[in-house]
Amino acid sequence: MNFSDSEIVASVMASHDYSIAGDAPSADIILLNTCSIREHAENRVLGRLRELQHLRKKKPGLLIGVLGCMAERLKEKLLEDKDLGMRIDMVVGPDAYRQLPQLMADAETGQKAINVMLSVDETYADISPVRYAANGVSAFISIMRGCENFCAYCVVPYTRGKERSRDPESILNEAKQLIAAGYREVTLLGQNVNSYSWSDKNSGAEIRFSQLLEMVADLDPLLRVRFATSHPKDISDELIRTIAGKDNICNAIHLPVQSGSTSVLQRMNRKYSREDYLERIKAIRAIIPDCAISTDFIAGFCGETEEEHRETLSLMDEVGFDFAFMFKYSERPDTLAAKKYKDDVPEEVKTRRLSEIIERQQKHSLASNHRDLNTCQLVLAEGASKRSEANMMGRTSRNKVVVFPAGNTVPGDYVMVEISHCTSATLKGKIASE
Ligand code: SAH
Ligand code: SF4
Repeated sequence: MNFSDSEIVASVMASHDYSIAGDAPSADIILLNTCSIREHAENRVLGRLRELQHLRKKKPGLLIGVLGCMAERLKEKLLEDKDLGMRIDMVVGPDAYRQLPQLMADAETGQKAINVMLSVDETYADISPVRYAANGVSAFISIMRGCENFCAYCVVPYTRGKERSRDPESILNEAKQLIAAGYREVTLLGQNVNSYSWSDKNSGAEIRFSQLLEMVADLDPLLRVRFATSHPKDISDELIRTIAGKDNICNAIHLPVQSGSTSVLQRMNRKYSREDYLERIKAIRAIIPDCAISTDFIAGFCGETEEEHRETLSLMDEVGFDFAFMFKYSERPDTLAAKKYKDDVPEEVKTRRLSEIIERQQKHSLASNHRDLNTCQLVLAEGASKRSEANMMGRTSRNKVVVFPAGNTVPGDYVMVEISHCTSATLKGKIASE
């Protein structure tokens, strides 16, 4: 989401004649787009801001701005030099990016510039993002902003405000521009894409996410379409059928479960039980038998007992996720959990539980990759692999990373790759046909 937002920021700046500097030392303005999801993320941002201060010595006019969720959460506190131990010139929340040029002008005159107003209707629908760090093959399209689910641990509803959907016409136009520029894959982004909803101005008819997904997929059969994220409480059979019905909608669903224990899920305010989640997995498997399913886990949420933790491990065995993002619970100020529960699982217990989850997931990821050995996979080539220019890296529809000798392949090509080796993270093989 931040990657996508930074492209919007770049577009706002470009329309006021700013251009992107190659690196921080050559920049006149440095904007850090920030994340508040865990304390660790915020600490890293503060560390980076501290490192950047030395650049002021060579460039007294340098402006440093904090954008995004940390700006929204900490507001004026980020402008109090004494408390922070460093100087920040601008603080701009996620709904105020259109005001950046004005804020910059204020900051240039030495005033502290801040705008952290949240909006009920800002979707930046008319702004064409500048794809400055993209690979030319795969791009994000933001389809909605904000979240009103108020999961007990989560800061997002406070930092990103009310949920709002973006005009589908502007989404389709953005996708068309990407196709015209040679892109081959788009990922539709929202905190909970299942609650996407737009009522048509003329007919009043509602456009839901599954219809939007279908409309984007229908633009071009060679365009792959992905999305993130689905909330398990409202992923519908209709959506699963839409994915099954179109070859170019990727067979990969990210469905964050957080915990395998119904009592923990209740405390997390996730609004589904372990059984509800398993029922949705069953529906996915019945409608799309070869669908990859990935998830997120939080280890050591408030009050989590050993028994509840074991329920997460047993759910992992039951589902066999292809991939997972795994985190230790990090208390976020002012969230429901911070107000209502004690962060009472000791740090060493959280660490041990997280490593048990990671270890279990590595086994499942490896097993999932083993199942792909000696098969041919349709891979969309993205670019040179990290380790060697001679190798190309791409992904399968199920979102698995594949590395193969590049031959004549260029980014954006579809190739059939015969899979011969794997680790828990990567498939390896050679081109079977182009
Ligand atoms: N909207 C998405 C999640 C966005 S946040 C959804 O509902 O699925 C991405 C992930 O960060 C979450 O799924 C959760 O696993 C993790 N996360 C969020 N808040 C956290 C916290 N306070 N501590 C640890 N992990 C957290
Ligand atoms: Fe946070 Fe829950 Fe909203 Fe996801 S759905 S952003 S976890 S509050």
